Amino acid sequence: MSELRKDPLLDRWVIIAPERDRPPQATYGAAPAAPEQPAPCPFCPGNEHLTPDEIASVRRQGGPWDLRVFPHREPALRVEGELEPRAHGLLEQLRGLGAHEVVVETPTHRSGWADLGVEQVVAILELWQARQRDLYQDGRLEHVMIYKLHDPSGRVGGWRGAVHHSHSHVIGLPITPKELQGRIERSLTHLRRTRRCLVCDLLEQALRERERIVAADEHAVVLAPWASRFPFELRLAPRRHQHAFVDASRPEIASVARLLVDACSRLRVALDDPPFDLTLHSAPNPHPHRPHPFSGKDVPLAWHWHMDLVPRILPYDGSTDATGLHVNPTPPELAAAHLRGLA
Ligand SMILES: [Zn+2]
Ligand SMILES: [Zn+2]
Repeated sequence: MSELRKDPLLDRWVIIAPERDRPPQATYGAAPAAPEQPAPCPFCPGNEHLTPDEIASVRRQGGPWDLRVFPHREPALRVEGELEPRAHGLLEQLRGLGAHEVVVETPTHRSGWADLGVEQVVAILELWQARQRDLYQDGRLEHVMIYKLHDPSGRVGGWRGAVHHSHSHVIGLPITPKELQGRIERSLTHLRRTRRCLVCDLLEQALRERERIVAADEHAVVLAPWASRFPFELRLAPRRHQHAFVDASRPEIASVARLLVDACSRLRVALDDPPFDLTLHSAPNPHPHRPHPFSGKDVPLAWHWHMDLVPRILPYDGSTDATGLHVNPTPPELAAAHLRGLA
């Protein structure tokens, strides 16, 4: 059974999940195989028996399926039970309560979003909305985090990238992650100071200055953040102020899908299909059982959902991990100009 522990010095929760310390072949139940006989892909059609039962699926064309979602076979968190908060002196602890789901994004093995086409990415984003809506009915969950790792050639390595079939993770958490907390706190400070939304103001300035814009249409914008931590780091945000991803309309989702497929295609040409992380930063649960600073009435005014797309092209740097100080050799203005210039 996993648990959450809070570091009082860092003010950061960590999931301690001992059962996930397994070789990659065991993660989804596929049999360990000799190198010359690779294990079957558990996400390919025909291998559904290798995954837990579906929570939901999308079937558009009468084929096996277009999208599937099921619980992670070895979840970092589980839905059963209660949080049982405890403390030993300064050290806080919660039971590992939550949800961990896997979305298989296509029946076709080894396809990135650049290949999937806009219609399929619309279906993925709508399924993300449906899962977030559903999980937010559980007031024990404070935040539903959604992310994907695109790792076409296994360059990022490790067990996290072990299944090279396009998929994403939906994780319902009993806490709000530190990174999101910080972004919301800074947005609330900006609101108190100016009565305006920080992301709306950042979008407005970027659109006025133009040089960090990669692509934009009537509903959404993709830009290189002013202080990009990594080369070719991108941020996508809707133009209309909205705090919750689940509130994005059908035309807005279509626009986000178009811009994401476009960004993935540009990165593929510019950087030879790099591995990247895509993370959705949306509002926490508006109706949690335990009220918290991120469910206040000002949050819908202050917060503006967005996604970060971070190519993993620099080698791991321990000093960045230790200090939180990033050194980025590629100015975001150059990255944006290069991506804009690609056909
Ligand atoms: Zn596959
Ligand atoms: Zn806004």
